[in-house]
Amino acid sequence: MADNVLLELKDVRRSYQSGATMVEVLHGIDLTVKAGEMVAIIGPSGSGKSTLMNIIGCLDNPSSGSYKVMGQDTLNMAPDELAALRRDFFGFIFQRYHLLGHLCARENAQVPAVYAGVRKHKRDERAKELLGSLGLDERTEYKPSQLSGGQQQRVSIARALMNGGQIILADEPTGALDTKSGQDVMKTLQELNAQGHTVIIVTHDPRIAACARRVIAIEDGSIKSDTINEQIKDINGDIHKDNSSANTTGVPLSTSLVKKQWSLTWSSYLDRFKEAFIMAYRAMLSNRMRTLLTMLGIIIGIMAVVSVVALARGASEKIIANIAAMGTNTITIYPGQRMGDVRSGRVQSLTPRDLVVLQGQPFVDSVSASVQTNALLRRGAQESNAMAQGVSLDLFRVYGLKVKEGRIFSNQELQDRAQVGVIDDNAAKLFFPTESALGKNIIVGNISVKVIGILAKTDSFVIRGENPNIFMPYTSVMTRLINQNYLSSIVVRIKEGFSTPVAESSIKSLLISRHGRQDFFMQSSDTIMKSIESATSTFTIMISAIAVISLVVGGIGVMNIMLVSVTERTREIGIRMAVGARQSDILSQFLIEAVMVCMLGGLLGVILSYIVGQVIMHFVPAITLSYSMFSIIAAVLTSSAIGIAFGFMPARSASKLNPIEALARE
Ligand code: ADP
Ligand code: MG
Repeated sequence: MADNVLLELKDVRRSYQSGATMVEVLHGIDLTVKAGEMVAIIGPSGSGKSTLMNIIGCLDNPSSGSYKVMGQDTLNMAPDELAALRRDFFGFIFQRYHLLGHLCARENAQVPAVYAGVRKHKRDERAKELLGSLGLDERTEYKPSQLSGGQQQRVSIARALMNGGQIILADEPTGALDTKSGQDVMKTLQELNAQGHTVIIVTHDPRIAACARRVIAIEDGSIKSDTINEQIKDINGDIHKDNSSANTTGVPLSTSLVKKQWSLTWSSYLDRFKEAFIMAYRAMLSNRMRTLLTMLGIIIGIMAVVSVVALARGASEKIIANIAAMGTNTITIYPGQRMGDVRSGRVQSLTPRDLVVLQGQPFVDSVSASVQTNALLRRGAQESNAMAQGVSLDLFRVYGLKVKEGRIFSNQELQDRAQVGVIDDNAAKLFFPTESALGKNIIVGNISVKVIGILAKTDSFVIRGENPNIFMPYTSVMTRLINQNYLSSIVVRIKEGFSTPVAESSIKSLLISRHGRQDFFMQSSDTIMKSIESATSTFTIMISAIAVISLVVGGIGVMNIMLVSVTERTREIGIRMAVGARQSDILSQFLIEAVMVCMLGGLLGVILSYIVGQVIMHFVPAITLSYSMFSIIAAVLTSSAIGIAFGFMPARSASKLNPIEALARE
């Protein structure tokens, strides 16, 4: 019979700290319980029954002595090993039911199976079956608040049986029930014992104790008697058929049977995660306003960062697009000292002669020139001020100008200083509203120019304002229109394989030696790119600093709320631990909640930023915001990381709670 011993307590003592002294509540309990027994522990209030029961149920550890469950000493077990025992072997029934208020009967019954990694459909099936056998078929979707005390206690019995419930521990299970409901519960416990479950009941009521075959009386923390009831009564006081002796030998089958049906696979981990996710989601929903306010810090932080990054990106993309149109290996030479030099218009340093010399350099692929002047355009009675731009062929491509009708001038026409021109859309509408302009003549200043092409509409920076524009060979403009021998700018395209900085310094020394001094300045696409890059990175660092501050503030808000949430839900944590939740289950539940709050905040921040951006772009067309997938993903990832970082401490403190103390909390 020795191999039939299920629980074995030897000299178990339990002391509580009371002020400065230790008070011993259990004084050396020796007790063995065999498989299939039904034991009642009876004693007056305060005698230590619950303390003993909690030790038996691995919710609490003895201060000294040893306690073995199926031969395994519990003394050196880790918290998760004890949780596994609670989950797989014990089924708890508490006086105050300890159901989770926000879950329905079916979900409450399932909780232990969630932690055992049972798949959802199997859990549902078993929960319904158990609730059905306890007469609750109609009530599976009811919340505890919608159930009577007796019904709630039956839900808690279903929960105790969910994972098999080889050993059922009931601490004053009828204490809060009316007589009839109490009788039903006792009947159920007797039936379960008859089916092979080991049942231990704690009670102060001799009538309840009479239902058990073995009665242990406890007084002031010591066992006073341990007797076998030869005549087991049922709760009505009638003599019960004694069938429990048959069960003292047989090993209960329920646990082993159930466990075999339930496969533990990786998908069960996924299921557990999903369950933690749902729990977190429900917790968030039940505190909507608070969740939203908590998120606000994250929402604002993420919104600010995403918007500013989009703004910076939009601006630099615009500039880079302009540069890309010129080609990446070009150098533009302007007269004067620097960009915006007021005298540059009068500096006559760049000449067509420079063009020829530059063209002769080995690293030069092509050279283009441009010259601008204001001129009066006339045709018949129609006249208008216009910008006449003298350009090289290349510049049409560089400036991103395309003809929609006709053609641009040829190299031959450029050399011949031909009186031909390409007009823009504005000029075409103004001077040729009803007919095609192609082949017609127009008076520019005091020369007649034949229109050979019309430009497609464009937002190129060389088309300025609403005034008409006409593009002509620079040679024609310089000799025929304004009789000027200097240029507005020179664009040098560097040959493939030559370094732009080297070319830049060669051009510089070449022009200085030709002009005798530096009366020009240069801009290469490289230097523009670099200055944009450095401006952008300075900007990014600044923004990142602001972002870090605002997100840390948001994170602290999240941590604060999570701490409150853990405190509020201490009892829930206790219940979950009592039915077998691991520390990691509790940790992940709260961590998931923190991450969800932050991630949702991040997502809302991104969406808000996008909406605000659209509104701004609608009203201020000059501003472009460019949202990159990268920044959106980074924002969401960052906010999740904040959730983990700031949610970890509260989640960990939840997982480290002592199940007994947590349960005692109201
Ligand atoms: P019963 O369940 O038999 O009514 P308990 O086991 O709950 O009794 O309590 C036994 C004794 O231990 C009581 O005197 C009680 O005050 C004391 N006690 C129980 N829990 C604690 C605790 N957490 N801290 C200090 N004393 C406790
Ligand atoms: Mg008690």
